[in-house]
Amino acid sequence: MKKLIKGCSALVWKEDSHSLLEDAFIVLENNSIRSWGKMDRLEEHDGDFDETIEANNYFVCPGFLNIHSHIYNQPTRKGFGNDWGNENFYGSALYDNSGLFELSKEESKICGAHSIGEMLKKGTTTMVEIGYNSQWYEDVVQNLGIRAYLVPGYRSSSWGSIEGRKVAYEWDEESGREGMKKNIEYVKKCNSNSDSKINSLLGPAQIDTCTKELLRKTAEKAEELDCRIQIHAAQTLKEFEIILERHGLTPIEYLKETGILGTNCIIAHSVFTNAHPATNYPYGNDLELLSESGSHIAHCPWVFARSGDILHSFGKYLEEGINMGIGTDTNPLDIIAEMKWAAVGSKIADRNFASVTVEDVINAATIGGAKALGRGDLGKIAPGGKADMIFVDLDDFDMSPTRDPVKNFIYLAGSKAIDKVMVDGEFVVEDGNVKYLDEEKITNEVREIAERVWGDIPENDKEGRTANEIYPRAFLD
Ligand SMILES: [Zn+2]
Repeated sequence: MKKLIKGCSALVWKEDSHSLLEDAFIVLENNSIRSWGKMDRLEEHDGDFDETIEANNYFVCPGFLNIHSHIYNQPTRKGFGNDWGNENFYGSALYDNSGLFELSKEESKICGAHSIGEMLKKGTTTMVEIGYNSQWYEDVVQNLGIRAYLVPGYRSSSWGSIEGRKVAYEWDEESGREGMKKNIEYVKKCNSNSDSKINSLLGPAQIDTCTKELLRKTAEKAEELDCRIQIHAAQTLKEFEIILERHGLTPIEYLKETGILGTNCIIAHSVFTNAHPATNYPYGNDLELLSESGSHIAHCPWVFARSGDILHSFGKYLEEGINMGIGTDTNPLDIIAEMKWAAVGSKIADRNFASVTVEDVINAATIGGAKALGRGDLGKIAPGGKADMIFVDLDDFDMSPTRDPVKNFIYLAGSKAIDKVMVDGEFVVEDGNVKYLDEEKITNEVREIAERVWGDIPENDKEGRTANEIYPRAFLD
């Protein structure tokens, strides 16, 4: 099956870099890109096509890789994480009120479909989902057509907060070992089917909830299975202090000691390194360790920015030679908004307009994410690459007038300018709608689940408080 995309502006891969080409064509063969070029050279390339896609009014861009997300119950948490934090944990909202948003498997699959739909509409073509039951979403992923790394993660301890003043850990080492075994089996199962769009990697959930032994075993197993590891680390100032107290090391130093750091390691966040001024710790060289080891970062700026913090800084990490990818983490699952926050956040952190450019964040969300996952076939419009692409409507109100489609898309119009999304050579979003999702139906289903969850909050809260008592709504008397 040969398809021709005709007459578009496109971000094609030329001599090791994305390059904007106008009046371009792209030829697809089955699920891959075969060639690209200027329209006036089309005849030299290929003859017969099974399908021609007229794309005069589109800017075609490689699909984005969202290399860190959670979809278990995201729709039910909308509006809860905003303007809220724990003062005793330096503003972090991470440890409090866990267990208020519990879902059944069926409910979670419905929420998962809603979240995956949101990701597709907003330009994610490859997602990494970290949870404890990520394998639940297999059929949802297959139905909706996204490319996915599903990670049923594991840990030796749960966490919570004691009266909002101390982080509490409940250790159960056996459950950590069992969880790792299941994750290993899942990686093996995914690896055995190389045609599948579903992959996996090892997910020791958080640096502070896994024992040293579990982290060491994870590093060994990843080597043996030749797979990636993804772990949350350096994600709160509290965690920085806890790791320092437990081991006398920064979180990044501790990851090195356990063997986790390396070319197959993706760290979600890595915000609280000794390069962050709030750690007040000029004694280490975390960024050098990250760079030397070839580790990758899943940078999710919004979830930090909304609590008043930011990486120090995206620009400095790039300068150090650290590979940067982008993730959404929680709500909204909008990779383009994250790209904008990554650029603007770094400019603010460095007090320098040139700290990070739109080119840097496009690179991070495409080839940076692909490198993190070890995927040379993703993140670029290049012969032999997978046909994962976004079609941005140049007639969109906020895209016009268009002198610079890349800047207009990321900085001004955002995801609402996306008209079509292609994964593996097939359109899975058309006219801005997810092709294989009844959006009205799923919205109603998710609404019902959320009402149930919010109504049950007093039963699940230790102090019996309502949702509004814990998280006041805006402008509510
Ligand atoms: Zn996360």
